[in-house]
Amino acid sequence: MIITTLPMNTVMHKKIKYKSKTMPTIGLPKGLFYYEHSVLWENFFKYLGCNVIVSEDTNKEILDYGVKHCSNETCLPVKVFHGHVYSLKDKADYIFIPRYISLDKNEYSCPKFCGLPDMALLNLKKQINILEVKIHADMYPQQTVESLRAIAKTLGINHADVIEAFKEATNVFIESREQALKTAKTSMSESCNKTALAILGHPYMIYDNYLSMTLMDKLIKRNINVYTPRSIDYETKRKNAYPFQGKVFWDTGFELLGSAFTFAENNGIKGIIYLTPFACGLDAFILEFIERWFKSRYNIPLLKLTVDEHTGEAGFDTRLEAFLDMVG
Ligand code: SF4
Repeated sequence: MIITTLPMNTVMHKKIKYKSKTMPTIGLPKGLFYYEHSVLWENFFKYLGCNVIVSEDTNKEILDYGVKHCSNETCLPVKVFHGHVYSLKDKADYIFIPRYISLDKNEYSCPKFCGLPDMALLNLKKQINILEVKIHADMYPQQTVESLRAIAKTLGINHADVIEAFKEATNVFIESREQALKTAKTSMSESCNKTALAILGHPYMIYDNYLSMTLMDKLIKRNINVYTPRSIDYETKRKNAYPFQGKVFWDTGFELLGSAFTFAENNGIKGIIYLTPFACGLDAFILEFIERWFKSRYNIPLLKLTVDEHTGEAGFDTRLEAFLDMVG
């Protein structure tokens, strides 16, 4: 994970503030990385004394901005991300877009994450100033330190202080993840009497209410327990992502395959809904594999819901209702 990129032998709780000078406003687009790492990056910039502004929840206007500024072939979440960036362009001095290449040993991010800062700059015709942190944990962890050095230079802050803020924010991030996992596990063990379903998908699909068409709320309102990849710990997902002779390469593959096979082995889970965005190259392989494997090995219903910018909620709900009737 991202936390392996810097030595973490010092636990710090000192907040760093630069109240004496006017610090810039940093815009955080509420898409893609935001859904997993908002705690880390919001705290990092706050510890540096920056003002932090987060774009609004995804809405029609943001989606339209994104569609306008991206090529048709781009996947839906990247289009939406561009809409968020565009919505911040006149509100922030800099927009933060991390460059995630590899978040752990032997795991790589989707290529769209690797080139995200370049894509945004190109598609928005250089109307924005970007700050980026590069994470390449598999081969070049030192690149994170170098990119933090570049941030220090841009913001006029001592490099060591930026490193300290990063470590501090990382510690808080780890604590928050552990706490969230503990809560998810408790709710899983306490809820055996209710119908339980799992949602599979990228966090920027599942937790974005606009893109998911409030799928999670719809299920909860029907008194259904909902589990997601966040309900399973990191090690379990890595262990269970190998039911076949082969090797997963993408971190998304570990997350989704590991979750799918963990849920499939759990008798309490009555069905799985895979929420996939249009034009996701990784899902094209992962979902296909899960479907085939489920058919031959497991007796668990799987509903695939694909969302694009034209998807109507009525059709989405009809398919969901039919699935819920089937699983009872
Ligand atoms: S994993 Fe899929 S949805 Fe996510 S950025 Fe890559 S192509 Fe897009």
